[in-house]
Amino acid sequence: MQLTGTSMRILLVDDIQIERMQLAIRLKQQGHEVKAVGSGIEALDVYKDFDPELVLLDISMPDMDGFELAFHIRESFPEWIPIIFLSGHEEPEMIAKAIDVGGDDYLIKPVDKLVLTSKLMAMQRIAQMRRELKQATAQLEKVNQWLKNQANEDGLTGLYNRRYMDKKLQSMLAWHGRQNAPMTVILLDVDYFKPFNDNYGHLEGDRCLQALADQLRTTFNRAEEYVGRYGGEEFVVLLSNTNEIQAEQEAKRVKQAVDNLNYPHEYSYTSTRVTVSQGVFSFVPFGKEKLEDIYSEADIAMYQSKSDGRNTYTLRNSINS
Ligand code: GH3
Ligand code: MG
Ligand code: MG
Repeated sequence: MQLTGTSMRILLVDDIQIERMQLAIRLKQQGHEVKAVGSGIEALDVYKDFDPELVLLDISMPDMDGFELAFHIRESFPEWIPIIFLSGHEEPEMIAKAIDVGGDDYLIKPVDKLVLTSKLMAMQRIAQMRRELKQATAQLEKVNQWLKNQANEDGLTGLYNRRYMDKKLQSMLAWHGRQNAPMTVILLDVDYFKPFNDNYGHLEGDRCLQALADQLRTTFNRAEEYVGRYGGEEFVVLLSNTNEIQAEQEAKRVKQAVDNLNYPHEYSYTSTRVTVSQGVFSFVPFGKEKLEDIYSEADIAMYQSKSDGRNTYTLRNSINS
């Protein structure tokens, strides 16, 4: 019978030099890379650097026996690799203990050549399957993360989408309600975006929205600041722990960011650049507000900015709403 497996890195631990050398030679002849050591301490020493794919372990050794060593290996190196015990003892209790401390198989010395080769192959197969499983799991995790991002992301701008912002607003209402703390919602709408599209084309319009989104993303990049696409050419910013005085600073920050973008718009009636109108709503929530009521407050303020000539912000708070 011809059994051939691919080469493996094998760590061989046996205190009896002659047995260790004989086995090492046999394994090397079969094409394996072998590190042969005479004690458990040495084995643990070389383990990390050698990075074995299989461990062959004598049981009776002075200082640290094979059981103890196997236990240490399982404790210290979470990456599973097969451990096969080698022993002159055939008692069932020994075999049971070997498996119990983390061993995968048990061979009686002197080990038959064919049996050894076959066992190595079987272990190799299992190791390969585990590697594949690990790879598949890692890939699946990546896909899951991607799907999760997709579900929260606006396709055009890469900002959070409306779904995510709604969820975020909901949880912010609850949290600030419990803390009795102020928060702010800014709705912003691009001024004269229809003429922009009509004159430069829809693709250019998309590019403009992307540039605006990038600018807003870099402007609000701190923790507890969230920027999303509300819909169409409207964006929403959610700000934690922000009262109306601070909110005015934030609105100025938005205006400055859009000014800095300096995006040409020859068909705007309010500027030669792209501008936005903002509705800024600051309030201390009680926690159970309806989302549409909150958005509606910010929307009223935003329309006020439109009728005030655009390219401006309007502050609104819970008192005058
Ligand atoms: P106002 O200053 O009053 O806001 O005027 P406006 O022209 O911006 O307002 P209107 O709501 O009439 O126009 C919004 C335009 O935004 C119309 C729509 O075609 C365009 N728009 C909405 N979503 C997108 C998009 O994803 N891409 C592009 N290119 N255009 C969009
Ligand atoms: Mg609009
Ligand atoms: Mg608009």
